[in-house]
Amino acid sequence: MSSPFLIWIDRLKNGQTQTIHESFSPVFLDIQEEELKMDFPVLVVGEAYLTESELILHLSASTKLKMPCAICNEMIEIDLSVKECYNAVPINEIPSGIYDYKDFLRESLLIELPQYVECNQGNCPERLIIAPFMHEKQKETSNFPFSNLGDSNGSTT
Ligand SMILES: [Zn+2]
Repeated sequence: MSSPFLIWIDRLKNGQTQTIHESFSPVFLDIQEEELKMDFPVLVVGEAYLTESELILHLSASTKLKMPCAICNEMIEIDLSVKECYNAVPINEIPSGIYDYKDFLRESLLIELPQYVECNQGNCPERLIIAPFMHEKQKETSNFPFSNLGDSNGSTT
């Protein structure tokens, strides 16, 4: 039941710093994307300490995950990391005296999740096959307002 992400405020009184050096199962990230595979632990290093009125968390975290290439669908491994994240929580918002930093860690990492990945360092070999098609589509949509403008200009002059 007890979360591995807990910080006890009492232990930080008198200027103590809690060092965080953990390896968590990626399950806590609770990623719903079916195409995304997380088989690697999440490594977290950082510290927690108190100021006069706040709990300060200072974390860096890294892991790896697998996502399909947006073009050919091949699974590729990518790094997911955050560096030097700070979170300041007013101590009076932690009435239990125990702070669970799971959500902060999760959100910090999920923000960094790429929307789009491509294999072969962004140069998917299948790109060549679909490139002319993509270009055609782009032309259709982006030229539309400009060709309209050109027409009305032409008729007034
Ligand atoms: Zn690809």
